[in-house]
Amino acid sequence: MENYAIDNKNVKITLLALGCSKNLIDCENMSTVLKDAGYSVINDVPASDIVVINTCGFIESAKKEAIDAILECAEYKVPNGNVKKIIVSGCLSQRYPEDILKELPEVDAVLGTAHYGDIVDVVAKLVSEIDEAESDKINLTSGIGGFSHLVKDRELSTSGYAWLKIGEGCRHRCSFCAIPLIRGTFVSRPMEDIVEEAGIIAHKGVKELVLAAQDTTNYGIDLYGRRSLSELLRKLSAIDGIEMIRVMYGYMDGITPDLIEEMANNPKVAHYLDIPVQHGSDKILKAMYRRDNAELITSRLEMIRKAMPDCIIRTTVMVGFPGETEEDFQIMKENLRKWKFDRLGCFIFSPEEGTPAYDLPGQIDDETKQRRYDEIYELQKEISAEQSKKRIGTVTRVNICSVSDDGIFYVGRSYGESPEVDPVIYVASSEEELNIGEFVDVKIVDCSDEYDLTAVTI
Ligand code: SF4
Repeated sequence: MENYAIDNKNVKITLLALGCSKNLIDCENMSTVLKDAGYSVINDVPASDIVVINTCGFIESAKKEAIDAILECAEYKVPNGNVKKIIVSGCLSQRYPEDILKELPEVDAVLGTAHYGDIVDVVAKLVSEIDEAESDKINLTSGIGGFSHLVKDRELSTSGYAWLKIGEGCRHRCSFCAIPLIRGTFVSRPMEDIVEEAGIIAHKGVKELVLAAQDTTNYGIDLYGRRSLSELLRKLSAIDGIEMIRVMYGYMDGITPDLIEEMANNPKVAHYLDIPVQHGSDKILKAMYRRDNAELITSRLEMIRKAMPDCIIRTTVMVGFPGETEEDFQIMKENLRKWKFDRLGCFIFSPEEGTPAYDLPGQIDDETKQRRYDEIYELQKEISAEQSKKRIGTVTRVNICSVSDDGIFYVGRSYGESPEVDPVIYVASSEEELNIGEFVDVKIVDCSDEYDLTAVTI
């Protein structure tokens, strides 16, 4: 295979993005620099020479998904298939580099969260050894996090919207969470870099920005000595072509009057918040090392809804935390009935090495965890349906993202639907043809059981 040495375009690479939006952004960046280096980035594992698996690794289910993906790609490795080299990057590599290289011999290189920027050199090295039977494994996992790999003009894998990373890592130390071990403490990305990248994204015709970090409400404290998310929203909303800016992954104590005022008065900022509260019992919130309690959550929700009555609020909770009694669980359900989140994601506690909760006494049995998980979902179905029905008859602007499989409806999202995690709006447009990525005015006319909404153009 002599032409590898001379022509990168003959080297076909597939990148798989597992886990969260931050991982997707890192994958888009790696894909962009590999293409700039002349490699052929395709989306076809069996036809690839090299596969890069950008992994998640913060809880058991994510680790399992990553290992399954690695083993699946390994099935296409020579001599059975075309794949010659496998690179594992991201959070699983950051946490378990030696284990991966020892227990998964098909893996040729592991790249930690501070080494996405080395992807071109690593690929070049692996390509130079592609004909050799034996070659040294590559382990680049020193250091943690950072932004050095972020290119301003990254190639987007999403359509009609773009994720925008504003920070990395987390300064909180929730007792169940491994993310600070993997991504380090919170580091804000310089505002001018974020605004410059947003300008380039707007220039591509993308109208919706979705801000991502482990805790977006923390933005600026480390870099500017003060919470600066409001200022960033003002700067981003000044960019021509941007119509909607969405704030994801907030922390309740970071939802300040200043931020709410900016969100309420800035026409480009979606009246949407994603604020994981994790639990509803003060005893469990304390054991989780969470900084907020039920009273604070209640008062912040009241403040948000007073300033933005139409605000759609998503949250995440966890069941089965060590020591969670039936009483704690009932307290959480009571508070969820009161707080009426529009959307909710639920996790089952998974003991993570290196976290304080890993070997706490009072670990809950799997059956009880699963029963509580199911109960939360049953409860939330009622609440979400009730909340969605309140929007029937209202008028809103929808970002048209695609056409339904049956071709009858356009599929879109308004300020109230975040990409990838929320329901959608099916839009009927009798009069005119609609363009993907454009915003149109609609009237919401119905709501399905899965809380998808139906609307007509107006
Ligand atoms: S806020 Fe807590 S749960 Fe969220 S990433 Fe930080 S440490 Fe983990």
